[in-house]
Amino acid sequence: MKGFPTTIAIDGPAASGKSTLGALLAESLGYLYFDTGVMYRAVTLAVIEGGLYVEDEQAIGELAKSIRIDVQPPSVDDGREFDVLLDDTDVTREIRKESVNEHVSTISAYAIVREEMTAQQRRIAKENKVVMVGRDIGTVVMPDADLKIFLDASVEVRAHRRYQEMINRGERPDYDAVLRSLINRDQIDTNREIAPLKPAEDAVVIHVDCLGIQQVLSKAKELVKNV
Ligand code: C5P
Repeated sequence: MKGFPTTIAIDGPAASGKSTLGALLAESLGYLYFDTGVMYRAVTLAVIEGGLYVEDEQAIGELAKSIRIDVQPPSVDDGREFDVLLDDTDVTREIRKESVNEHVSTISAYAIVREEMTAQQRRIAKENKVVMVGRDIGTVVMPDADLKIFLDASVEVRAHRRYQEMINRGERPDYDAVLRSLINRDQIDTNREIAPLKPAEDAVVIHVDCLGIQQVLSKAKELVKNV
């Protein structure tokens, strides 16, 4: 029993529902919600817009050091949880585009990129009561988090979820392409050398295939009460 948790780590693979859970849990507790995936997405967007080669680790490392990524309260009422700014430009929508999905796992596996992002994430965790969401929050960014949750789900369930989200946004996705893209990202995120996607030893793993978001949220709230 550590007392009421003020640092909560939620990790899991792409489209496992961790962002939705993180946002709802943070709202119910009055904590900052911080989705670390947006930082890796913003770096990836900067790489694409800067015309750098995705394989050019050194140049990408330099770029990651030189850009400023800010996450702020939402300025537009379009369902977003926050604004993501890349050097003061609002890139909240651009970081979700397909070219970013395609390259983000390669770029986020680079050591210098991770060093930069991890340092910023730790600073944010120190300064706030926070629900932080990502792949390596419980293992690397906040290894002393008061509560660690790992969401797990089959890749098919996650692909259906992602496919539906895209339809709801008015896009016309191809299900097989969505599935392939998730398998590819899982593969890179799980097998990279630095900070691979895996549950921390002291994380509570929730299998969400057969659960709705409200059920996952109540399980998480129970965990918060019983840390
Ligand atoms: O969570 P989201 O799907 O937006 O994350 C995008 C990508 O950023 C992931 O596929 C992963 O490669 C990377 N990421 C990471 N570590 C984190 C969060 C995200 O490597 N803590």
